[in-house]
Amino acid sequence: DGVLYSEVRRPCRVMLLLNPHSGKGQALSLFTGHVQRMLTEAGVPHTLVITERQNHARELVREVDLSQWDAMVIISGDGLLFEVVNGLMEREDWEAAIQTPLGILPGGSGNALAASIHHYSGSQPVSCEELLVSCGFMLCKGLVSRMDLVSVHTASNQRLFSFLSLAWGFVADVDIESEKYRHVGAARFTVGTLVRLASLRVYQGRLAYLPVEEPPSRPPAQVSPPPPASAFCSSLLCRPSGASPGQNTFHNSCNSNNAAKAKRGDGTAPAPRGPPDSLLAPLEQPVPGDWTVVEEEDFVLMLAMYQSHLAEDLLAAPGAALEDGVIHLFYVKAGISRTALLRLFLAMEKGAHLASSCPYLVHVKVRALRLEPFSPKGVITVDGESVEYGPIQAQVHGGLARLISG
Ligand code: ADP
Ligand code: MG
Repeated sequence: DGVLYSEVRRPCRVMLLLNPHSGKGQALSLFTGHVQRMLTEAGVPHTLVITERQNHARELVREVDLSQWDAMVIISGDGLLFEVVNGLMEREDWEAAIQTPLGILPGGSGNALAASIHHYSGSQPVSCEELLVSCGFMLCKGLVSRMDLVSVHTASNQRLFSFLSLAWGFVADVDIESEKYRHVGAARFTVGTLVRLASLRVYQGRLAYLPVEEPPSRPPAQVSPPPPASAFCSSLLCRPSGASPGQNTFHNSCNSNNAAKAKRGDGTAPAPRGPPDSLLAPLEQPVPGDWTVVEEEDFVLMLAMYQSHLAEDLLAAPGAALEDGVIHLFYVKAGISRTALLRLFLAMEKGAHLASSCPYLVHVKVRALRLEPFSPKGVITVDGESVEYGPIQAQVHGGLARLISG
């Protein structure tokens, strides 16, 4: 633990999955206009796969021969990476498959993970094309870090893996309702927030969590200090001596893909996919005794975040790190005025909402949580995607995945 960057390893044979309908529908022109040449000049061989429908990427990575690929990179919003992560975790060889370095190039309207890794790199906030270029450089550099995943269970016993967020109430409603404003790009969340504020409501349910016990011996994980911005460019242009442009100069360093060595299943009953969730009791049973049950049952929102950004311009969890095994649980209690809630979201742009000491906002660091909404209908989102509504619980798995970051 501690500084968790692995060695510099330039990913080669990158599968680039692109959702042509993400964001304003410009992912392909964003790729050809800003990233393609960068990758070619850096000598990163890549194959572009344009998704044809929802779950295309998920099915593809579930079946693909991973020994042929050194990284899976998406150019889209967070939703396409959600497909890739879950496709990998649905494989028999999930344990090796989830070691495949993943990458993200922001091409959607919800680019929260891209904004988070840009933030972790210590760079000033940027948006749109500049964020894309920043993530393009990270991909060329090929630094791989570990990333936490959160295992999520729904009432019908579905299991999902999440890298970003679990939301209910105000935030989840905005996420789904703002789909219709996707033509405005990332601004859809601002528009959606204002619309939802006008019809602010209370959501009832029971929330419980397992708090992080903070031993003084283990300081929070820190990312290593980023190189100066110019180092991105120079490392992009430098090649090992003797290598010529277009050559697969980093091939030798790319052959250690564990997935290639993973044994296939032998046809016996499939083992449960993913690591065991040792912190969770079955959803039908009460939460374990060391959990905290929140007294309030009237909420405006519940938001669990494991990375810093909720959207490109919303620094919801300033203390989050890529791999620290922490879920930042936020909830806003009913009774908050529209103005105060708006003020919270405005402050979130700079991550200042926690310092505003709003008495309705609660923030706790947790390892696991359970939510039992009382109303029969509603919206719950995981990584910005709508999932089965009803009782839901989750636990974090520190560093389960690997991500190309700064
Ligand atoms: P955005 O940030 O703009 O919402 P996402 O990457 O989150 O972009 O994608 C939005 C949704 O589109 C996700 O649910 C994803 O699974 C789905 N999707 C992926 N590829 C396609 C496609 N080719 N056509 C339609 N939907 C797709
Ligand atoms: Mg999305």
